[in-house]
Amino acid sequence: MGVEWVLICHGLVSVLVVVSFLCGRWPIFEATFIQRFHFFLTFGAYDYFLRFVGFVFGSKCKDAVLSVEYYCCDRPNPLLQIIYLAIISLTYYFVAKSSFVYIPGYYLSEIHRYISLSAVAVGILLFLLTSFSDPGTVKADNVSHYLSAYPYDNIIFSEKECSTCKIPKPARSKHCSICDRCVARFDHHCGWMNNCIGERNTRYFMAFLLWHFLLCLYGTVAIGLILAGRLKELKVIHILTVYYGIENSFWDLAPHVVQWLLGSYNTQILLMVFLAIVSMLLAGFFGYHAKLCLTNTTTNETFKWEEYMDWQRKLKEAKASAEALRQSISGLSTERKPLVNKWSAFFRRSPLEDVVVVKNNVYHKGFIHNIQEIISPLSTRKSFTRTKLKSS
Ligand SMILES: [Zn+2]
Ligand SMILES: [Zn+2]
Repeated sequence: MGVEWVLICHGLVSVLVVVSFLCGRWPIFEATFIQRFHFFLTFGAYDYFLRFVGFVFGSKCKDAVLSVEYYCCDRPNPLLQIIYLAIISLTYYFVAKSSFVYIPGYYLSEIHRYISLSAVAVGILLFLLTSFSDPGTVKADNVSHYLSAYPYDNIIFSEKECSTCKIPKPARSKHCSICDRCVARFDHHCGWMNNCIGERNTRYFMAFLLWHFLLCLYGTVAIGLILAGRLKELKVIHILTVYYGIENSFWDLAPHVVQWLLGSYNTQILLMVFLAIVSMLLAGFFGYHAKLCLTNTTTNETFKWEEYMDWQRKLKEAKASAEALRQSISGLSTERKPLVNKWSAFFRRSPLEDVVVVKNNVYHKGFIHNIQEIISPLSTRKSFTRTKLKSS
């Protein structure tokens, strides 16, 4: 039983670390152990490490660590790209090494050897496309083009100049401090891609996420089918029921089957668990970005909207309180009004409850239109090229 428990503990710890690291800031984990662990992993642990280095090796060593951090986190670098390529190729290598010997099997035909290789190749292709495509860099010679494609909403975007590039800042664009350039319809800077995700490569990024989610799901199901096939081929159920006299019911057989699988196919099970966890994380990430695309918003804009809504709410609350105060003062100074029914007074809403802030996203023009805008970015369309020619 020792090996099984080590495997279970390993799986649980991996899930905890991966979920805390990637999803610890999600609202569902607010004020939970997962959120505290996320902050420890992202800030606390590094802070303790820096203090430890400074204390043991001196300030010069601490500066060296800080400069490594600057290179890795604040400058464009291919570190995460290399890690991605290592993860996908090593995972494929281990899957092929451990499981291809059972293909063709009871449930999977030989074609899956080639389908899996092609699916991984398409994944890497989408990765390269997202990494090395232009996200929509705004320069002096194309800024008028972007200005006509993205009008200001005068809510979260108003006429401005980029203080670094010294060119007008089109609505929905942002200056990426890592790449040191302005990017149209800026979503975020993706470390894994070593590139910004913007107007022109959001489509590749979305395809990358969806493809990798499907790829991991395919891997999980395929390994599951290989194991189910082995169970069938080796007549495990028959042996367990006939020779070992175990009751032929799911609950009686399950522990024995699991024990047999963990004993004989632990590499495949580890790979299956890993792929299942990654596919779930990718599904969440894809779902989040799909929602943004469907409502024609970007990650960058969600922060801007949060700020704007917060400010509007405070402003409206202040106005409502001032109005309530004014009314109570004028009520005191004028003659006593006829008594209000005490029940209606009891149920009367506080003026603060009426404060409603509406998010008016002018770029949201219906789901179909929004999807078209992702697939065929506005600045690549002929109508805006003509506008540019007319204006120049
Ligand atoms: Zn700029
Ligand atoms: Zn960038």
